Amino acid sequence: MLYVDTHNHLDFAAFDSDREAVLERARAAGIGGHLVAGVDPAGWVRQRALAAKHPGVRWTAGLHPQVAAGMRPGAIDEALAGLPAQLEGAHAASGVGETGLDRLFVDPATLDVQLHAFRAQLALARELERPLVLHIVKAHGKALEVVKRDGLPAAGGVIHSFSGNAELARQYVELGLSIGFVGAVCRPNARKLHAAAAAVPDDRLLIETDAPDQSPPGHPQRNEPTALLDVAEAVARVRGCRPEAVLVLSTRNSERLFGVFNAVPAAQTQE
Ligand SMILES: [Zn+2]
Repeated sequence: MLYVDTHNHLDFAAFDSDREAVLERARAAGIGGHLVAGVDPAGWVRQRALAAKHPGVRWTAGLHPQVAAGMRPGAIDEALAGLPAQLEGAHAASGVGETGLDRLFVDPATLDVQLHAFRAQLALARELERPLVLHIVKAHGKALEVVKRDGLPAAGGVIHSFSGNAELARQYVELGLSIGFVGAVCRPNARKLHAAAAAVPDDRLLIETDAPDQSPPGHPQRNEPTALLDVAEAVARVRGCRPEAVLVLSTRNSERLFGVFNAVPAAQTQE
């Protein structure tokens, strides 16, 4: 079985010089599936091309809150008008996102435009019955309020790069969402995150790298999908199981949400 890195950005320029080698290293480490999350319309084109080239790549189309924060509502609407077409045709996106709210990495004064983009993408995901990839940073109260009021797609979704405690994870799980853990869980002193990773039910647990961002401690600054093994090890430690069990759970859960990743073992790839 080849495992899935349930959230990364392999389309980013950070991988332009050695993308094939990065994919090959991942495959050699047992990671053959990649959910490449969307941040803006220019990326959607790159993501679809990557999915066309690599059967193990699936992707989502979204407008990231950090991108939306710099846009006017009219421009957001224009960009999102092109989103439904991304969910159609050959090598189409299988979900909507990243979307959500961020009050840490962008000016909190942009929350209104972020909300505009977030609610519009929530509505699209509900109408088109697609799963969501949610990016929520230092805005969990507001995000819960919006999601409860507007409603989630039946297909569910994931709170990617989860940064809260066990109680917050429980609230998201109760709403039908899954929880994605990233390299931060590898920090020995991340006690609240460890408690959250221990508490999430088996069928809602996801692990991811968010490469090229969010390297686990001790890794090169440009993160790679191979770091998924470190995340698996850290999550397995707090759940009292083997890393392979975490990798299997996460892979199955991501395929239930986003569809089957037709990962091809190294020996069978044709370039
Ligand atoms: Zn991301």
